[in-house]
Amino acid sequence: MRQKITRDLTVIARYYIKKNHGKYHTGDVVLRVRNDKGVEYLVTVRPTNDQSCSCPSRKPCYHLEYCKGVEEAREAAAEQVLAAKVIADKLTQEVEAICAEVSTELAATPARELAPLNGNRPFSLLRR
Ligand SMILES: [Zn+2]
Repeated sequence: MRQKITRDLTVIARYYIKKNHGKYHTGDVVLRVRNDKGVEYLVTVRPTNDQSCSCPSRKPCYHLEYCKGVEEAREAAAEQVLAAKVIADKLTQEVEAICAEVSTELAATPARELAPLNGNRPFSLLRR
């Protein structure tokens, strides 16, 4: 098997296709990549797994592999963000429930029980 040539790639632009347009379909992601020699290619990553790259090499080329990896990492990160948001929302609800409980308890507590024990003097550690 022939060793695949790989170069350092940089994604310089990402386009998410929102509407069918020519050869592009809704949900396609087009990545413009540049290799270490400054050559740019357009790589299309499709939800249908039908990928394409504008380079002349035999497919699947390393641009495709790289871009699929980039999109997979992006999806994984998005899922983590979503999971973190669910946890944050749950914690917010819990804190709100505790706050509501505490303010209900405070409202039900007679005022004399809430009076400060030091007679409203400023707090001091060096009381003589
Ligand atoms: Zn390619």
